[in-house]
Formats: sequence, structure tokens, C-alpha cells
Amino acid sequence: MKLSRQFTVLGSAIFCVVIFSLYLMLDHIDYSKNPNGERNQNGQLGILQDKIDHLERLLAENNEIIANIRDSVINLRETVKDGKMFPEGSMSQGNGELLPPAPALLPIHSEDCQFAARTYSKAADGVQMLDVYDLLSFDNPDGGVWKQGFDISYQDNEWDNEPLQVFVVPHSHNDPGWLKTFDDYYRDQTQHILNNMVVKLHEDSRRKMIWSEISYFSKWWDGIDEQKRDAVKRLIESGQLEVATGGWVMPDEANAHYFALIDQLVEGHQWLERNLGVKPKTGWAVDPFGHSPTQAYLLRQAGLSNMLIQRVHYSVKKHFASQKTLEFFWRQNWDQDSSSDILCHMMPFYSYDVPHTCGPDPKICCQFDFKRLPGGRISCPWRIPPQAITDNNIQERLPSTYHNSTCFPVYRLCFSLQAQFGTISDYFEALRKSTGMDPVGMNVGQLAFPVLSGDLFTYADRDDHYWSGYFTSRPFYKRLDRVLESHLRAAEVLYSLTLANIQKYGQPSDYPAVDNYKLLTEARRNLGLFQHHDAIAGTGKDWVVVDYGTRLYHSILNVKRVIVSSAHWLVLKDKPAYYHDPSNPFLQMDDVQPSQDNLWQKNQARTSMVTVYVTTPKVRVLDALGHVVRAQVSAVWNDASHAATDLSFVAQAAPLGLSVYQLMEGMEPRTEAAKYMFLQDGMKISVCCKVIHLGMTLKCPENISCLQKMRLKEDDSEFLVKVEFAWYGTTSNKDKSGAYLFLPDKEATIYSPSQPPVVRVTKGPLFSEVTTTFPHITQNLRLYNIHGVEGQSVEICNTVDIRGEINREIAMRITSDLNSKDRFFTDLNGYQVQPRKTMAKLPLQANFYPMTSMVYLQDSGTRLSLLTAQSLGAASLKSGQLEVIMDRRLNQDDNRGLGQGVLDNKITANSFRLLLEKRSSAEEETAPYSYPSLLSHMSFMYLNHPFISMAVSQRSDAPSLIPYSPLSASFPCDMHLVNLRAIQSKVWGGPSEQAALILHRKGFDCGFSNRNTGLLCTTTRGKIHLEKLLTDLKVKSISHVSLSLMHTHSSDANPQEISLKPMEIRTYRLQLS
Ligand SMILES: [Zn+2]
Repeated sequence: MKLSRQFTVLGSAIFCVVIFSLYLMLDHIDYSKNPNGERNQNGQLGILQDKIDHLERLLAENNEIIANIRDSVINLRETVKDGKMFPEGSMSQGNGELLPPAPALLPIHSEDCQFAARTYSKAADGVQMLDVYDLLSFDNPDGGVWKQGFDISYQDNEWDNEPLQVFVVPHSHNDPGWLKTFDDYYRDQTQHILNNMVVKLHEDSRRKMIWSEISYFSKWWDGIDEQKRDAVKRLIESGQLEVATGGWVMPDEANAHYFALIDQLVEGHQWLERNLGVKPKTGWAVDPFGHSPTQAYLLRQAGLSNMLIQRVHYSVKKHFASQKTLEFFWRQNWDQDSSSDILCHMMPFYSYDVPHTCGPDPKICCQFDFKRLPGGRISCPWRIPPQAITDNNIQERLPSTYHNSTCFPVYRLCFSLQAQFGTISDYFEALRKSTGMDPVGMNVGQLAFPVLSGDLFTYADRDDHYWSGYFTSRPFYKRLDRVLESHLRAAEVLYSLTLANIQKYGQPSDYPAVDNYKLLTEARRNLGLFQHHDAIAGTGKDWVVVDYGTRLYHSILNVKRVIVSSAHWLVLKDKPAYYHDPSNPFLQMDDVQPSQDNLWQKNQARTSMVTVYVTTPKVRVLDALGHVVRAQVSAVWNDASHAATDLSFVAQAAPLGLSVYQLMEGMEPRTEAAKYMFLQDGMKISVCCKVIHLGMTLKCPENISCLQKMRLKEDDSEFLVKVEFAWYGTTSNKDKSGAYLFLPDKEATIYSPSQPPVVRVTKGPLFSEVTTTFPHITQNLRLYNIHGVEGQSVEICNTVDIRGEINREIAMRITSDLNSKDRFFTDLNGYQVQPRKTMAKLPLQANFYPMTSMVYLQDSGTRLSLLTAQSLGAASLKSGQLEVIMDRRLNQDDNRGLGQGVLDNKITANSFRLLLEKRSSAEEETAPYSYPSLLSHMSFMYLNHPFISMAVSQRSDAPSLIPYSPLSASFPCDMHLVNLRAIQSKVWGGPSEQAALILHRKGFDCGFSNRNTGLLCTTTRGKIHLEKLLTDLKVKSISHVSLSLMHTHSSDANPQEISLKPMEIRTYRLQLS
């Protein structure tokens, strides 16, 4: 069998290709040619025609295929002239049966439906944030000294019997990148702060300090000597220094996906465990711009007892302060008992600096911020400067004690008080003691604090300054983050399986276990760093953004090296033939390489479309059994070299497995070429194109929106689903939109370019698509003709370029005829769904919420979900309407310290899937929770974790490859393998024999059709028998541990059967052999 020689195989699947090629393009794009970001549409059509010509040349030997393409082009031209196109329905495909059928009816255990279907009952003493939002007037009155607050009065003798205890908690907020890069901050500031900390704490044992970012702490630790390390250990032992949270960073809680939130927490906690033996007790988050209950859940699962948050809407703070409920147990919306509760302190005032933390009046507090002494770099904006304390004024300036009272001259007040420096856990310990709670866990007896459920978005710090801009700022990097997450997860799982496999094999191996572990560690840390609240938020200086982007990009390349070297071992039939040659790897991605493909993936078995570049359209695709697989050849439109053709075929892979496909040069009737049509020049497109697959229809009756209708496959009913674009400007007021703030001038105006778009319609046996090119957007709408998950939704890819604009933001608007009223749903960190209500009493920008994985709206019979491959801001400003901001270009700073606008826009590809589902559940309209369907969960997984394809290097002695399938069956449909992460050895720097198995049992709603979903799994009441699930590997040991492995749950020491409750995320310490 002669293998063809010159295939180019690129990347994983289509989304990654887009992103990678765009990233690589950044340095090569000649901006001067295109100063307005506009594209010459005639030029575009010329390129298309060029491409067709080239395809024709390539196909010269195959008259039949050429004839097909030429005919379609000629047809197109004629039909455009005639004003008619493909006859209706001509693109529908009758014979889409390519795969072993998924069960027609998805088997779901009825018990598994009960969780989402339960009736809602509010906890008796519970506070639901949705109710608080209903209650508040958001009237923004002037609150006297405490802006947005209210005057506080108190009696001198209130604390006579029980002295007021005051804890002063010294902390230092060190952003791992913002106005400077991580390394520059470290060099200029952070290392000196840490060094001073050691000196100053040693001087006086009453002094205390907390630290939270392990990214900085570990860098400092690596550079200090043993003596200093011992001093630090003593400070921690004595309780003078506390590590709070202990994550790699203090993460953004709006844009970060829970995979990355967990990963950065594990990275920090594992570092602490190895180097200091410290187990953090209290979370510390003073700067993220709004707070998510997902983070509260993760901290609780990691074994923390308390947490502190700060940036919360001023009206909410004022309300809680007046109710005396700034301290509460934060409970998950979905939690049916109190198992997710964590004690939370919400800071009461505007900020975490000295003027806003000593008490309610910043003009008094500021007088004790000695950094602001007259003549310094900063001053007190309240115009009463601090005074240096001298022997002459000490009586007047500082509190003094008379009898049992402490007197405050500046407050003209004396009361009974005990003041001390404390760490944040010292404070919580005293709080728990004073209310009769146990020191770490839950309430004892009567609840001492109220229970709060819900989230704390969207944040405003003053007036109408809502921080909803950062949900979208720098969207290019928000997408890049997701690409690294997907690749890192793949690399972690493959690496862990390979280590276990090599151990079982029992012979020494050339596999680079230590080098790969270093690459993984670096990637974890770069991904962790990017979760920082000025990184993924898109709120750093331009060069800091580049620093983050470079780290993400290099880590993507590095984890690919881990993926290929691990896959090489696993698919090799003859293991002794394994070799490691970094300069010439056996498997490659992204390079010019010939022949075979290996595909791997995911915890559920999967059939999915794979697209690779090939250099000839004459290709035969064979599966591992030698059967010919149906394939589609399409032109590659954005490659000026004309060197490649897209080859798409439907691949199948076992759960967590690798498949082997062979591409052979030669004519093959089952490899069919796609057909094309082009439209432009203001042709009335009302009769344009109609693409139908499996009951879904793309129709383009107007020249802006190519998606107008969607059809439900269950009953063939047709719904209006119109996709358009819209512009937002910024207000004419003094304060304008910037990296953080969204301050629009008015409602969006519909995007209507003066020139009509160029439309390309592709029609093929496996997928068909409509590509519409406007001056600022190229939209690709694709329908897959697959009886699998991908065939159930419309794929949307918007390539956005607004580099020529001034103070504009571009949105995608989806208008439907669903009667959703003012209610819609957005996810929080991809972990849970939060019901939302659009409120007229709030300004437009306040009604935008973060969307990490999805936004949906529904009425009694239908749900329309938009699943996303990048975090963006989303809203539903009118009934039936969804809106997503795709990019923003802003010419000014928004006065939150960044000191610049957002003008470093890139050409950015935003990817989505639009899913329309028939709905039968009678979910209560008032319930504060909602769940996606299993199909929706799975569609998100397909979008965010596409197959990764690899090509075998060209060589004469091609060794035999065998598919790899480590599991005998799919994971249950609702069970997600978050990660299988090799644990670092405590003895040396490399990997130990253990891995962290992190599982999430997803909550899902059964009230949707489970017919023909294409899913190849079932549900099992949350149970997995790991030993039975593994094919050749064995479980050597397994123990249930806390999320970040700090605590071992002894009651569950060696579980034979893994069992998770709905929504639970659980970690096991696992050793395979
Ligand atoms: Zn910060």
C-alpha cells in the first residue's frame, strides 16, 4: 500500500486552525494596505474565482469532479442573473447515515431527572439575589460621608459590656500583570514588598500580614536563601504570616472557565503543600470586578471555611449594610441542603485601600494613610491631608486609652475597644467564636448568619458606571485562553495515561516523562496567570496583553509536544520501537506532513467532523479496519498559496481514545467535492440560498442576515431566528466606555453597510455553509449533515475586524419569536446557569452579564441556546432577543487606573453554536436555577474540545499503528472528566505515580426531546465503577480528596465505586498501573 507523500495536515479541528492562523498572521498583516479594516469585495470575489481556478487545475485529471464544480459556478452566475438559485431543498441530504447509529432514544435513568425537576422552595432565612434586585430601587442618592451609603450613628456606651474587637489586616495587592508585566512588577515592587515583610514581621511579633498570589510568592521563594526560607516558615508557624486563598492568582470571576479556575487553585495549593505544608483556610478576593458563586463553591470544595469579597454593586452593599447582612453563608442556587455553604464577609465600602477600610468616612481614614502625606506622589482627594505624627501632636492624632475606653480624637469619640493586627483567618476565628460556631465548619445549632444564594454581577462602583465592558474586552485573547485550556486538558489526560501505560509495560522507555512534565507545569502556570483579574479580563496595558498572549501561545505549542509524544507511545503497536526525537517527532501538528491521522478524544465516545489540509483533492480515507470513509473536499479560501485543500470526514474515537485513519492518494467515489455559488453586487438575495440538513434550514431572504429561520426536527415547526449585527457607540458624557466600563450612547443601531455583502454558498455531502463577507465581519454559518451532536445545531463563526473604527462596539443580535419576556439565562464560569431578568430600572449596560459557555432564552415550548467558544458579554434587551458583544474599540481610558483605551484590536474569530430545542418541562418561572439539556452540554463540549488531529511524519518504515481505547464504555452522559492531572513528586521535581482525577456531574434538564440526539452515552445515577471502566489499566489506589488535594476524606478511603451528587465536583487521588 503506497501512502501518498504530500499531505499537509493542520492543527486540530476548524476553530483552532482559525485561531492559530490568525495569531501567526498578527505580525505579518500589512496594516497600511487596509487602514480602515475594509475589504475589497471585488478582490474577494477575485480570490474566490482564483481558488476555483486552482482547484480546477488540481482536479485536472478528474473530469467529472471538475465538471461538477464548473457547472456550479456557471450555474451560480446564471441563476444570479435570473434571480434564482438552488431549488428549495436541493441541498438536503437523504443519506446522512455514516455512523453506527446512536440510540434513537437516549436512555436516561428517571432518577437522574429528579434533580432538575424538583419544585423550588426558598430557604426560610435565605436571601436570594434575584429578589434583592427586585427590591432595590438603584436610586444612587448621595450618602453623606459614606457615598452611596448612609449616616451611621452610635452610642459611646454600646460596647461597654462587650468591647468592640478591631482587626487591622495588613495586605498588599499585587496584580500579576496590569500596568507592568508580571516580571516587571516582580522586579520593581513585589520582591521588595516580600523582603520587607520578612524584616518587619520579625521586628515585632504583634505584626501580621497576609499574602494570596502564589505566582509571585513561588517566584520569590525560588530566589531566596535557606535562611530566609526558614524565617518565612517560622512566621507562618507563629501565625504572623497567613497565605489566604493560595491560588496561583486572584482570578477574574466573570470570564474564567471553571477548568482554569480549578487548575490555578490546584497549582497554588500543590506548591504550598510541597514547599510550606500550608493549607489555606480563608479566601481573599478584594479586586475581581464582581463575584461568582462558582468561586465560592470551588473554595468550599478545596476545604476553605471562609472567604472575603469586595467589589459588589454599591446599592447591594448599602442594602446589606442596612440589613446587617454583610456577613452570610453563601449557598449555591442548586444546593438542596447546606452542603455548599461557605462563610463570606462582604467588605462594606468602596474599595480595599486605606481611605475606604478604616471606617465609613474616607476623609477621616485618609488622614491616616501616610503614603499620602503632603508633598508625596498621591494625596487625599477629600482635601484633609494626613499629618506626620510627632511628640507634639500624638495626643491629638492617635487613639488613647482612658480607663477601659479608647478615645479617637478625630472622631471625638471614646468607647470600649480591643484593637490588634490580625490575619484574615484571625478575624474569622473571632467571628465564629463570638457567634458560637465551630472554628472551621458549619453553624452549631441556630444559624448565626443569613444564607445568601445567587451571584454578584454586574458590578457598579458609582453612578451608572457598570463594569460590563470587560466581559468582552480583548476577545482575541479570551478565545486563545480557551484553546490552551482544551489542549492542556488533552495533554494532561494523555500524559497521565501514557505514564501508567509505560509502567504497565514494565520496560525502560525513551518517553520524555520529565521534560513533558516541565512543559505541562509551565503551561498550567501560564494558563493560571492568565486567569488573573486584569489578564483574561482584557484590562491590562497593551504590552502586558502581548506578554500574556505570548505565554499562552508558547504553552499551546508546548502542550502539543506533550500530546504528540504521548499519542506516539499509545498508538504504537510495537512499543520497543518508540523513540523520542524532538527535532523530528513521529507525529506532528501544524506542519507539512504526509499521510496518516490519529484522532483522539474526550470522555464520551464521539463521532465528529475532522478537517485537515491536504495537497490534492484526490484522497481516499480509510478507517482502522480498512473501510473507506465518506469524505468531502472543499477549497481553502484564506490561503493565498493555493497549496491546500480541506478534506473533511466524520471520524469516530473511543472515550479518551485515539483513532487511526489513513489517507491515500487516489480517486475515490466516496470522496466528493463541494459545490460553490457566489453572490454579490447588490443582487436581491431574497431568493438566494437555502440549505437544509436534518430538518434545519438556513435561509437568506435579506442581505444582512443569512440565518432567518430554524426548524424543529421533532415536529417540523418553523421559528423565526434572525441573526444580525449591531453597533454601539459611547456616551457623549465626560466618562466614556473603556476597558472596564460599558457606557453606550443609546440602544444599538443595526449594522447596514453601504455595500452589499459577498455571499458564498458551499454545498457538500457532509456539510454545507453560507459565508457572508461584510466590511467588518465575515460570517460563516455551517450545517453538518451528521446524525450526531454536530448535526443538531447551526455553527456560527464570526470573523470580526473593527480596527478602523472609533469608539464603537459590534454585537451579534439574534431575534426570535420566542415569548421569553424579560427572562433569560447565562452561565457562570461554564459551571452553572444563573437566571437573569432584564430590568428597565437599570441602564442598558447594567443588563449585560458575563457569558462563559452559554446564554439562552425560552418560552413554554421552546428553548434557544447560544453556546460559545469564548467568554463575552451577553444580554436579552427585548423579549425573544439575544445579544452578544463581539469586539470593542475604545479611544479613551475609563478612569479605573489603566490609563489607556482599547485600540489593540485583532482580527478575531468568535465561534458559537445555535441550538433550538423543543421543551416540555414545566420549570417554574421563579426558580433561581435552570439547567441545560444533555444535548446542550454535549454541544458545548464539541465546540470547545474539537478532535485533535495529528499526522505521521513521512518515513519509509512506517510502523504499525493501532487505535487506543483505555475505557470499555463511555463515561455517563452527565459525567465530565474535568482533568486527569499528574501530581508532582514531593521528593523530586518530576511527576509522581499519582494523578488527580477531577470529575464533575453536570446538572441537566430532562424536559427536552431525547430522540435522535446523536449521543453515545447513558446516565447512571452519578455512579462510575472505575475498575470495570478501564480496559487494560488497573486502579492501584484511589482515595477521595478535597478539590486541590490538600485534605483526604478518610470516610471514603478507597471507594470501589465513584458516586457524585448532581452538580458535584470531586477529586480523587488516583494511581493507575
Ligand atoms: Zn488587582
